[in-house]
Order: sequence, then C-alpha cells, then structure tokens
Amino acid sequence: MSSTSSISPASLRILICDDLSPKAVEVFSEYGITPEISLGMDEDTLVAKVADVDAIIVRSATRITRRVIKAALNLTVIGRAGVGVDNVDCVAATEAGVVVMNTPTGNTTTTGELAIALLVSLARHIPRADREVKAGIWKKKALTGVQLTGKTFGVVGLGRIGRVVAERGVGLGMNVLAYDPYLSAAESSPVTGVQLVEFEKLLATSDFVSLHVPLIDSTRGLISAERIASMKPGARLINAARGGLVDEEAVAAALDSGQLAGAAFDVLSQEPPPSDHPLLGRDDVVLTPHIGASSSEAQVQVALDIANQIARFLLEGRADNAINAPAVSASDLVFLGPYLNLAQRMGSYLSQRLSGPIRKLEVTYLGELESRDTRAVSLALLAGALSHGTDSGVNFVNAPALADERGLRLLEGREPDAGAFQSQIKVRASTKAGGESHLVAGTVFGNRPRFVRVDDLHLDFPPEGHVLVTRHDDVPGVVGRIGTLLGENGVNIRRIELGKAGGADPVEHGGAVGYLAIDANPGPELLAKICELPFIREASLVRLGEASPVSGNRS
Ligand code: NAD
Repeated sequence: MSSTSSISPASLRILICDDLSPKAVEVFSEYGITPEISLGMDEDTLVAKVADVDAIIVRSATRITRRVIKAALNLTVIGRAGVGVDNVDCVAATEAGVVVMNTPTGNTTTTGELAIALLVSLARHIPRADREVKAGIWKKKALTGVQLTGKTFGVVGLGRIGRVVAERGVGLGMNVLAYDPYLSAAESSPVTGVQLVEFEKLLATSDFVSLHVPLIDSTRGLISAERIASMKPGARLINAARGGLVDEEAVAAALDSGQLAGAAFDVLSQEPPPSDHPLLGRDDVVLTPHIGASSSEAQVQVALDIANQIARFLLEGRADNAINAPAVSASDLVFLGPYLNLAQRMGSYLSQRLSGPIRKLEVTYLGELESRDTRAVSLALLAGALSHGTDSGVNFVNAPALADERGLRLLEGREPDAGAFQSQIKVRASTKAGGESHLVAGTVFGNRPRFVRVDDLHLDFPPEGHVLVTRHDDVPGVVGRIGTLLGENGVNIRRIELGKAGGADPVEHGGAVGYLAIDANPGPELLAKICELPFIREASLVRLGEASPVSGNRS
C-alpha cells in the first residue's frame, strides 16, 4: 500500500465524478480533505482532468477506463459508492497498482426491505387496489388477498440480502425455508428460525419464493419453465435480485395457467422492458423500476462508507472492501501481480469444475515462490474459488471470512523445485469428504498466466475467456465433430489441448479429455447438442474472466 501517515490531508486531490450524497464531503472535511466535485464528464474530459488526482469516486454513471487510469499518474484508489464495478476497468487498475474498492453492504437492508414490500404487495394486491381507488373503482371482491402468517416462504440465496429477508419473514410469522448451495441442508441455518432445505423442496412447498442470488452462469435462467412447473401450484414469485434469473415468458404462461398466482419483480432481463413485454399490463404482476437500493438511507450509507474508506486508505493505508488489492507493497506487487491474476483464475476454474462447493484447497508454492510472502496469492486463490457464489462481494479482505462461513479450508505447502519452471503454483480442490477433486497447476510466462497441468494432463493453456472442457471416448474425429457444431453456430475455436483421461481410473478407461478455448459462450442449447454427440461423456463450459489484460483487449 502506498499510503503513509506523513501525507498532508490538505494536499490530497479527490475527484467525485457522480452524484453522491453531500454527507461524503462532510466526512472528507472531518479528515481535513476537500474533494472536488465534477459531474457528467465524458472520457476525454476525465483524461484531461485526472493527471494529478489521488482518488476518484464514482457511482454507476461515470466509466473509469484504461485510458483514464493511464492518464491519472498519481492515482492510488478508485472508489465505487455501491456494489457493482462494471464501470471501472479493474484489470487496468490492478496493472497500474491502483486499488478499487466498493461498498458492498450499504444497500443490503434497503434491498431486503423492498423484497418484503413486494411480498406484502403481492399478498394483498396493494398496487392494483391503489390504481382502482384512484380511478374511482371501489370493489373489494377481486382484491381478496392471502394472509402471510403461517404461509411458507422460500428464500433462495441466504447471503447478505437473503438473510435480511429471511429474518423479516420469520418476524411476519411465516414458516421460512432457505436454499443456498454453500450451506448444506444438514447444517444449521445462520438465521434463527429458518430451515435450510434442498432447492427442489423449497420450490415444491413454498407459497412465496423470493430470489436473492447473484446473476452468474450457474444462476442464469434459474427459474425456468421446468422449475416453475415444479413449484407449489398457486405460489407467488418475487425477484429483487437481478434480471436474467427468471424466464419471464414462462412466468407469464404460468400466471395464465394458474400455476403461479402472482409475481413481483424489481429487476427484469431488459431494463426498461420493451412495451410488448409479457408481464406489463397484468393485474397479477407487481413491477418496480430496479429501486431495491434506492432509499435515502442507502444512498447516504454508501456515500459515508466510500468517503471513510477512501480517507482511511489514503491517510492510514487501510484498504477496506478492496476488490483488487491485497496487502502487498508496491515493489512486491511487481513480482506477485501476475501470480495474483493466475491464482484467482485457478480458484475460479476449480470452483467451476467441481460439481459441489469446494471444502478444501491445497496449494503448493514451488520454485521462486517458495521463499516469497504468498499470503496475497492465497487470498487471490480463495477469492477466485468463492467468486462463483456471488456477483459482488468477494475480495481480498472478506475472502477468509467467507471461506470460514462456507467451511472451506486452505492448506499451504512449499517446495523449492518447480521443475522446468521458475515458479509454479499447484492447487488441488476437493468437495466434502474428498468426494470429488480436481488439480490445476500454473505458472507465469512474460507476465501472463498459463495453466501447465490440469489433473493428469500436462498442457500449456492461457486461462482466459470461455473454455469448453470435454471428457470423451479416445477415438478419431471427436474434435472435428465438436468443431463443426461450434463452427456452424459461429463459435470459433482459438486453441485445443487434448490428452488421455484419468490415469488408472476404470471409469475413465479409454477416455480422453479436451480443453478448447473458444471465442464466445456457446449457450445452453449448443452445449446440450455437444453433450449429445455419441462419443462425448461430458462437456461443460468454464469462464475464466476476460482475456489477459496484457493483450490490451479492454479499452
Ligand atoms: P451475496 O453475495 O451476499 O449473497 C448471494 C448468495 O447467493 C450467496 O450466499 C450465495 O452462496 C448464494 N447463491 C449462489 N448461487 C446460488 C444458487 N444457485 N442458488 C441459491 N443460492 C445461491 O449477495 P447479496 O448482497 O445478498 O445480493 C443478492 C442479489 O441482490 C444479487 O443478485 C445482487 O446483485 C442483488 N441486488 C439487487 C439490488 C436491487 O436494486 N434490486 C440491490 C442490491 C443487490
């Protein structure tokens, strides 16, 4: 961390680029810092403005691109007042040694409360009742609702917001069930009075289902037509998490058939929705325009949080909620930076390859890494391994706590000899009781991460973009057939690595594995077609973040 207490607060230049509660300025002035506010700047204006700023603060409007970061020669920290950092080029920031931090908890209570508001609105038809009274209609019959007390309430995703919602459900006298893949149904629930169950049971028994999961590959389309069909007839669905989790056409069809009695969404797959969206104009649907985080308290809270975090970072070197910056010195970061990138991708890869949550990560640092302080690299590995359960909050600071919460143990080993490599990281990840495990080893060539071994296969593979992993019969023509299918659908193969599968494992007998780097996500239908090819035993997609920052793919 570059900050020291010898810095004079008055000399610090902080640029606030988006509309932020004035409370942020008050916090800064308590530290003796006077920030500059300049709203609505485009990239060129920003580039001209940032040459000597120490910190930049944004909400979601201003984009902090690689160009802006390059132009900001004194920049040490970018603060996002809110959760998502899509508008900040975090890769470019890490390369430049710039810390990116967000405020992951400021919105939690407010968003949970909106989900409860939607629950009550659905149960008692409040939006429709309001519309009708204002239109001069005073008819009670069609507005007969349902009582919440005693009803079963299924909370999907028991993270920060899910816990707020579940607690309030208990307070309303509901029988609250929760499903979260990181909390097994056999464990005790972190929320008193809430029973952890399997997803199928939650869907089959809940009168109300509320979603609080991130939008990631494994949750896209989570509430599909099939899942809706498996819900308790007459159930009501609430989504105040992210658009894309729900098949909205299927919801409309289920409302028509009576399978669902109502739905309430704060988020939609397209925002704002097109005028012909199937959920518009329905009395059994309640819609709000993505206002989950929009309360004055939440706006103030994120402003207070980011101002305190930035001031503490600049003056005391303390990096709360840093997304990209572990506690390493700037000089160590030059050597370790590429290994942080590698370790994060190894963790991400392993979490996608295992079919259940990772319970044990065994990492070995070999070669030159053996004698280095690798704590930050282990944090990067953990953050990568945990990132697939969430879309917002895993960072170097909270990764150990999250790992504890999810029962994930990290064991470290060191070996002086890295074979043909200067340094190498080897990681084995296992599910509960070692039920399933995968190994990956990687190194860094010219600052770029490479996987050099995956399970028994030695390879040389840049862990970037979309990777199609196959297990198939070891017969001629396999890659040709897959390539043809991908090609017909406009998906280009960039690189292929093939090998024998599984050593002496009888299940893998006569099998081969393939790692195909492809240019685009093939989508579930094409993936299903690949799985149906006669010689394919398994095909799955792994996503490894963006292409290497070194190749300059991002603006
Ligand atoms: P979080 O990361 O704290 O919790 C997410 C939880 O979902 C984790 O416990 C994770 O284990 C669990 N999960 C992951 N995959 C799952 C699956 N397949 N099934 C069930 N659970 C799964 O996140 P959070 O802060 O509680 O946010 C929850 C959601 O709310 C996110 O999608 C976030 O983007 C959204 N959000 C919406 C608004 C809004 O304005 N409507 C505001 C803030 C956050």
